[in-house]
Amino acid sequence: AARDPDGIAIIDDRKLPGAPGESTGPQPGRLTYGELLSRAERLATALHGACGVQPTDKIGLLCRNHGGLIEGMVAASLLGADAVLVNTGLSPAQLAVVAEEQRLRILIHDSEFTEHAVALPRKVERLDETGVEEVMATAPPGGIRRPQREGRLIVLTSGTTGAPKGARRRTPGGFAPLASIISRIPLNARSRMLIAAPVFHTWGLAALQMGLALRATIVLQRRFDPAEALAGAIEHDCTSLFAVPVMLQRLLEVPPRPTPLKVVAVSGSALPGGLATRFMDVHGDVLYNLYGSTEASWASIATPQDLRKDSNTAGRPPHGTRIAIVSQAGREMAPGQTGRIFVANDMVFEGYTNGAGRETLDGLLATGDLGHVDSDGLLFVDGREDDMIVSGGENVFPSEVENVLAALPQVREVAVVGVPDSEFGQRLAAWIALQPGEILDPTAVREYVRRHLARFAVPRDVRFVRALPRNATGKVVPRDLPW
Ligand code: ATP
Repeated sequence: AARDPDGIAIIDDRKLPGAPGESTGPQPGRLTYGELLSRAERLATALHGACGVQPTDKIGLLCRNHGGLIEGMVAASLLGADAVLVNTGLSPAQLAVVAEEQRLRILIHDSEFTEHAVALPRKVERLDETGVEEVMATAPPGGIRRPQREGRLIVLTSGTTGAPKGARRRTPGGFAPLASIISRIPLNARSRMLIAAPVFHTWGLAALQMGLALRATIVLQRRFDPAEALAGAIEHDCTSLFAVPVMLQRLLEVPPRPTPLKVVAVSGSALPGGLATRFMDVHGDVLYNLYGSTEASWASIATPQDLRKDSNTAGRPPHGTRIAIVSQAGREMAPGQTGRIFVANDMVFEGYTNGAGRETLDGLLATGDLGHVDSDGLLFVDGREDDMIVSGGENVFPSEVENVLAALPQVREVAVVGVPDSEFGQRLAAWIALQPGEILDPTAVREYVRRHLARFAVPRDVRFVRALPRNATGKVVPRDLPW
């Protein structure tokens, strides 16, 4: 903001009132770096003065992708308070649990989440968009004294395997994370970045932090709509799009349009088999697949060239990152052999907010995933350790079967999970959503898998559904599959 006050920081779909004493407010839906800082300063002053928020307090932010979320994050940091980024997919009851666990002092929320806010205990103060503008209007002008304490960002995991866990991370200092990402992805200073992945999630947040460090313009849309995303990229001349894999599938379901996009970067879950190739055949060789997690940040990046070689690869570790594939006994595995994935990089995970940590080995963090590296050094994520299905003593990764089924033209999306079986311990069950107007029967599905994989990888149960249950980061939630 000091160096480039007039540079456009954010383009979104908000309508902002002018600040008191300003004859002209910010342009609707546009905030310069100077305006972003002055609004965040005003919000920090108001949160402190009118709401009594102190450094070390926790400020919950329950917002879709728009500038208000970023103002809240910056205001928290100016106050020395922690910002807890809340997943918009949580139910009111889940939010109440998160609020209790995180000891939220205040919740800043979009008005569409009023039902969530009113379900919170009374001791948690709440401010919706109107409330935020009202308290900001009462704040005296001028900056805020920088606190001694550095505010932290608390990101919640996706909650794929249970309740979302709070992961503590220091605000990235220095340029190590940025250097790491631009070592594999051609992003430039002052580029225009459309962030479609939710900013409350580690991937959308990483994209935002990168954008702010590059002094880029961040383009945000409250909800992802594939046609509007393409239209937004054209209207705002965006050269990069940050998304989650399920959004790629949806982008392929609308008529393609020529866009200025040179980079489409996805992360957060595995790319379903063949999707990378289908996407690049339509939108050009612009796709980058990042593998990582809330805890480990990005661990590897596949470039379009890597994905053309094998559309299932997660690529290679970027600058400053080390990956090791390790056996259960802690021995490093040879290329081609599957083992546990460990990662070390500069993006420090400081443990969960409940005090728990995560297993480490010689400075490397356990990702909880299994995978292998091929002879060319490309990483393949085979699946989560917990998801591996053991059926009749044979190990099967759901992703192997999903990738085979996803290649069937009739299949729109598919999830495979292990379900308890009295004879085999576990058996494979597949849930399939078909493309509109297509038909398939379970026998044909089983025969198709039988032709491509071993007998024990054939799903015994095949069920058809209209759509798979997904969380806000687009991940299938196995416990919500209709059983
Ligand atoms: P929870 O810990 O609450 O169950 P979660 O682990 O789903 O949630 P995230 O941190 O968002 O929360 O997810 C990280 C996981 O997502 C990784 O450990 C990996 O299993 C998977 N993943 C992310 N990106 C990729 C990718 N590019 N390819 C394959 N798997 C990926």
